[in-house]
Amino acid sequence: MAEVKKMFIDGEWVLSSSGDSYTLINPATGEPLAEVTKATREDTQRAIAAAKRAFYEDGWCDVEPLKRAELMNAFADEMEAQVEDLARIETMNNGKSLTESTYDVYDSANCLRYFAGLCTKPTGQTYQVPDTNVFGMTVREPFGVVGMITAWNFPISLAMWKLAPALAAGNTVVLKPASYTPLSTIKLFEMMEKVGFPKGVVNLVIGSGSVVGDELAKSDDVDKVAFTGSIEAGQSVMRQAATNMKGICLELGGKSPVVVFDDADYKTAVDGAVFAMFYNQGEVCSAGSRILIQDTIYDKFVKDLVKLTKKIKLGNGLDEGVNMGPLITEDHMHKVLGYIETGIKEGATLLCGGHRATEGALAKGWFVEPTIFGDCTPDMRIVQEEIFGPVLCLQKFHTEAEAVELANHTTYGLAAGVYTENLGKAMRVIRKIRAGITWINEYGPVYNEAPWGGYKQSGIGRELGTYGLDEFSEVKQINVAKTSAPTEWFGTVD
Ligand code: NAP
Repeated sequence: MAEVKKMFIDGEWVLSSSGDSYTLINPATGEPLAEVTKATREDTQRAIAAAKRAFYEDGWCDVEPLKRAELMNAFADEMEAQVEDLARIETMNNGKSLTESTYDVYDSANCLRYFAGLCTKPTGQTYQVPDTNVFGMTVREPFGVVGMITAWNFPISLAMWKLAPALAAGNTVVLKPASYTPLSTIKLFEMMEKVGFPKGVVNLVIGSGSVVGDELAKSDDVDKVAFTGSIEAGQSVMRQAATNMKGICLELGGKSPVVVFDDADYKTAVDGAVFAMFYNQGEVCSAGSRILIQDTIYDKFVKDLVKLTKKIKLGNGLDEGVNMGPLITEDHMHKVLGYIETGIKEGATLLCGGHRATEGALAKGWFVEPTIFGDCTPDMRIVQEEIFGPVLCLQKFHTEAEAVELANHTTYGLAAGVYTENLGKAMRVIRKIRAGITWINEYGPVYNEAPWGGYKQSGIGRELGTYGLDEFSEVKQINVAKTSAPTEWFGTVD
């Protein structure tokens, strides 16, 4: 029996108090990958108690910002020193290509460095109140204990988008990774232990959403919960967070439009559309899963889109030249294949892909061919629902107004893109689309310096950028009377 992977609570690597564990499967091979401990509610409470003690009693709340920055920079150095190992673990657990995993590691190290820089640059306001004797200012303070719940599609990045700003702001943390992909997060915690984060400041609890996630969301001792995942689980977190009115940050799903006008730089737009949809197997919250193409170029654009999509090389992410890996689980693969059947039944035109890929070694894993549907209409389920796999829907539009209407015609509002060489038109359209993350003449890059988050049902709050730091701190107003004088509102003191 393989050694059971442990979690990190109060500075110790421990097994679940129940002794339970579960088996991870490599999605590229269908073979067992690792045995991992499975926490109970009591384990989660223990981690929360450790984080609370570290914050209030052990003095983390008073640690100098420069010391926090030093620890974070050392953590980033460690990530870069172990990039190959970390990327390999990520690819075997999640399935994404080694190139993508490697990119995630470097980008997350940059995220740490960005927020380490912000540790020492607190900002606030001064304000003038009507009483000129009073001087007013605001300061930012940490929440205390932050609970973090992440999804499986970008395990390293999603952990870092929460850990880096939360630690920079001076909080202590308890993190629960997605059950399918805890391995790279375990490695991150080994690094934090090595660089010397004090006992209880960072805690890792591995277990199910309905137990560990639920406990983090509802515990009276957690002051803020930061969640990435589906709308349904996000709603549950929001309900549970109401127990003690804790702060919430919810990063949820999307069905994002990419609008291509006939005056776009053609090659950039075709390339951008394929990247928007098929990066990371299409398992991306901000995937450009609806491409809206102006009718004047529709036929030619579609032909070239399909041609480029057919160049995507499916395979085990560890293999050279592979640029699309398997989906995360067998169940998820069947869900995606179910959507493809739905698209066909709904009358969309299948332009390429459409099947499970079973050639040679692919048969052992959870591979789905990159799939494109043409002639999609606004109310089809494949156009409205997040598929979270490599399935692209194409729609045709005639006017700018029609493009905006189609773009906004879902309950989501995470991301959007516009391709046109007419900057005025690009700005008009982007300002009318109800989405929090937008790109013009590019699609997809995540910038650690820019706020990440959605409109509508795609979420609440922002991670990354200085907005991300604000998300993990409270604002306090301090009013100082320059000269002491009784108010005498209720009379005088004898
Ligand atoms: P999910 O099923 O909602 O799970 C996300 C996380 O929440 C997991 O750690 C999960 O634990 C946990 N969880 C599940 N039920 C919970 C509950 N009732 N209370 C507390 N935690 C709970 O989502 P997923 O399938 O992993 O991820 C895909 C979704 O995430 C997509 O909708 C995608 O768009 C979204 N996403 C959004 C962003 C963004 O930045 N906006 C980024 C990435 C992904 P278990 O793993 O144990 O079930």
